[in-house]
Amino acid sequence: MCTRIHICSEILALIRMPDKELNYFTREDGSNASPSEVRDFLKSELYKGKKYLTLGECDNQTPEGRCAGHLEPAKDHKASTTKKEE
Ligand SMILES: [Zn+2]
Repeated sequence: MCTRIHICSEILALIRMPDKELNYFTREDGSNASPSEVRDFLKSELYKGKKYLTLGECDNQTPEGRCAGHLEPAKDHKASTTKKEE
């Protein structure tokens, strides 16, 4: 087994970033979010008690918002696909 951990950023550090650094965030529909929208979102996360924003889809977070890690079976032990000859 190995543990995978999502990358997370400190929300306060993100809020302090200059506008041009915040332009890679997208809305839920995939369009680009403006820096002020991004900061509003980050502030709302802070009000919920979160300190970190995890990048990617993470279903195992600590109350602070950090990735708590995901156990995964080692990839080289994957069941081999068997081909049946007809
Ligand atoms: Zn995670």
